[in-house]
Amino acid sequence: MKMQSNHDSLFIMLATLYSVLVLSSSQDFDFFYLVQEWPGSHCDTEQGCCYPTTGKPASDFGIHGLWPNYNDGSYPSNCNSSNSFDASKISDLISRMQLEWPTLSCPSKDGLKFWGHEWKKHGTCAESILDQHAYFETTLKLKNKINLLHALEGAGIQPNGQMYSLESITSAIQVASGYTPRIQCNNDTSGNSQLHEISLCVDSMASDFIECPVLPNGRSCGSSVEFPSF
Ligand code: AMP
Repeated sequence: MKMQSNHDSLFIMLATLYSVLVLSSSQDFDFFYLVQEWPGSHCDTEQGCCYPTTGKPASDFGIHGLWPNYNDGSYPSNCNSSNSFDASKISDLISRMQLEWPTLSCPSKDGLKFWGHEWKKHGTCAESILDQHAYFETTLKLKNKINLLHALEGAGIQPNGQMYSLESITSAIQVASGYTPRIQCNNDTSGNSQLHEISLCVDSMASDFIECPVLPNGRSCGSSVEFPSF
């Protein structure tokens, strides 16, 4: 009887120790998607787009967001409503964000609403490692590590309204970056599948690209997709 209760106590101690260790090391998320979009494909849709109040964005991929994700393909969102977006915390980044993270929604905007949405929905879920300034600065830094347009152009894939095989687009990014991208498409006004977003995965410390733990079903592309001009 005594023997049994010693075993029970030992079991309870080990179970407690295990749960303390597992809970304290468990993460809010497993990795990030760095999502970039082609402005030509955002605009060339039924919905259309509006250029930012600062003018037409460059003919380049723009940031959509840095999104924390779980390895099972699900993701956390809107994690802390009390940590609201505060533009004064990123005043030194605004001019870069206007260039590299352009808003395209209508009517024309200055970008604050789009960036605030990304912070509220996605950024607040990574606040354990990135405060507001770090979230935006890190996203800009990651975008500049791999130039997606150069990667595509280096493989002869130009934003000229031509169709390209999905395989050639994936392979061009893979060759240039060393990582497999997630490609998402939307439809132009005639219903053609077009290259809309390219995502690369980033480790949970937001420091380096990694091979994606999961490539979730996005809006799927046809086997050949249009790369519209912008
Ligand atoms: P998310 O909520 O972060 O998953 O992003 C989806 C939302 O972002 C949709 O409402 C899109 O219309 C919007 N969105 C995507 N790209 C842009 C952009 N460049 N400017 C403004 N809104 C955008």
